[in-house]
Amino acid sequence: MTQAPEARGSVAIPQAVVVKDLADLLDVTPVDIIKELMKNGVMATINQVVDFDTAAIVAADLGFVPEEESSASAADGEGAGPEAEPEAFSMRVEEDEGAALEPRPPVVTVLGHVDHGKTTLLDAIRSANVVEGEAGGITQHVGAYQATAPDGRLVTFIDTPGHEAFTEMRARGAQVTDVAIIVIAADDGVMPQTREAIDHARAASVPVVVALNKVDLENANLDRAKQQLMEHQLVPEEFGGETVVVPVSALKGEGVPDLLENVLLVSDLEEPKANPDRDAVGVVLEAATDRHRGVVATVLVQTGTLHRGDAVLAGMAYGRVKSMEDQDGQQVKSAGPSTPVVVLGLSEVPPAGERLVVRKNEKEARREAVSRRRAAEASGGERTAVTLDTLFGEIHRGTVKDFNIVLKTDVQGSIEPLVRALENLTLDEVNVKVIHAAAGSVNESDVNLAVASQGVIIGFNIATEKGAQRLADSEHVEIRPYDVIYDIIEDVEQAVQGLLDPVYEEREDARIEVRAVFRLGRRNAIAGSFVRDGQVSRNSLTRVMRDGEQISESKMASLKRFENDVTEVDAGAECGIMLEDFRDFEEGDQIVAYHMERVR
Ligand code: GDP
Repeated sequence: MTQAPEARGSVAIPQAVVVKDLADLLDVTPVDIIKELMKNGVMATINQVVDFDTAAIVAADLGFVPEEESSASAADGEGAGPEAEPEAFSMRVEEDEGAALEPRPPVVTVLGHVDHGKTTLLDAIRSANVVEGEAGGITQHVGAYQATAPDGRLVTFIDTPGHEAFTEMRARGAQVTDVAIIVIAADDGVMPQTREAIDHARAASVPVVVALNKVDLENANLDRAKQQLMEHQLVPEEFGGETVVVPVSALKGEGVPDLLENVLLVSDLEEPKANPDRDAVGVVLEAATDRHRGVVATVLVQTGTLHRGDAVLAGMAYGRVKSMEDQDGQQVKSAGPSTPVVVLGLSEVPPAGERLVVRKNEKEARREAVSRRRAAEASGGERTAVTLDTLFGEIHRGTVKDFNIVLKTDVQGSIEPLVRALENLTLDEVNVKVIHAAAGSVNESDVNLAVASQGVIIGFNIATEKGAQRLADSEHVEIRPYDVIYDIIEDVEQAVQGLLDPVYEEREDARIEVRAVFRLGRRNAIAGSFVRDGQVSRNSLTRVMRDGEQISESKMASLKRFENDVTEVDAGAECGIMLEDFRDFEEGDQIVAYHMERVR
């Protein structure tokens, strides 16, 4: 809301004042103050103290004549409550209550900046800890494998490095990861994609283990990397925090057993469990068509046991499990929880991240696949994503509590003030949360994060990569480009405000005294009245009071002065009032006339 500078009288402002209190003083919202400050190049939060000179400029902009208060005392700002933990975007498989759950291997994803050693680490774990198939069978790349930790327990690794896969799956509603390993090259430290990875893991509520890689290099600087981690709220254990940091050299295979042990320690806290005695539910990690074998899909079984011969359904693909291979290319008849297998027999290639379920028979699976296709075609294949415009309905349906924003800016320096200003727009009903903020163009990973978290992307002075735009279009994610900070705040504020139910407050119009009652047959009565103060309007609502008690509440049926219908009657004048729902007036009754005003 931009106020035209109009004379609004003088206002006494303390030498120092909290933004929130300044808002009260000037009778505007804190957001208005923050915006005015921004216009003047000052980035402030709601609980921040500004000095008199600054406050005076804002007050003047809003039409006041600022005066310095003699005995200044800045009121205390209430501390902003601790930020709520991000809610888990939980799409994990629900188990039946009372089912016999058994521990299953944790499923681990490796994330991190390019060239920090994700592939090398996955290879190192695989070659050192995976028992090669008998007769040296050709080890095919299947997108996931299980490794044996030093204590003999299994750990399942998703072998599609890069958080694209991680978020892509999340975007499809498949939360498969129990622990994320974030690889950081110790010579390079925390880099943009490291930050992204941390944000992605956090948005998914997946616990993190940090692998500090390349410790064999001379210029490896472990302390700096740990320091940088602290800046991202990942406090290493040795500094009293909870983040497990394991130094490794993926290239030399050093520290890998230690890493596996720690992954298990972290996952033990979550106690991943599943019921092996039920129909399998899995997720497609990758799939392709092979000229000889038909559709080849790598499936991670999440719960239950998948059997050869099972009728299955994955999105619009269906079929019977014709054959199943383990990670070494060996035929298997069944696969339990956390086991990756290659499945042959699907009717078409399902997208990565699609959930695979078992049906009674192939006919049923087929029927369901066909009806899914029809439904998808009918809705134009649309995935519903949140946009500034659709957020309203989402919140009312109770599906959105957080208004998630992925923020990309041209320079690092714009991030902090923008994040603060945006998060200041948080209200009780709507939590404005910047889930990821970084400098650089909008990329596919941003879009995936927005899809997975049902958020919108805000770009400040930056371009959108072609691939990202395509993905955003197909996933119906909104990318909003801006070049003025003020516009961002304004739009988001409007979106958030638009979500709120309107709030009305009562405003008194007039107090009226009933001096004579004229009955018109049985049904009607006119109160011959005198307006004591205010102005009563034909549209006023009324409350009839007798001896201090309210005896009716009603709309006005008619307002007359002498014999004429009028729209208003001022104080000091007489009038005749008929009400819609009340006619038993008595001399001496008081009528309070009021109207409801929308205040929000
Ligand atoms: P990714 O992009 O994260 O998958 O990184 P890569 O695994 O492809 O590794 C990038 C480069 O770093 C390659 O040249 C690796 O050989 C090298 N590298 C990976 N791990 C180590 C390590 O522990 N020590 C050293 N010196 N080099 C490593």
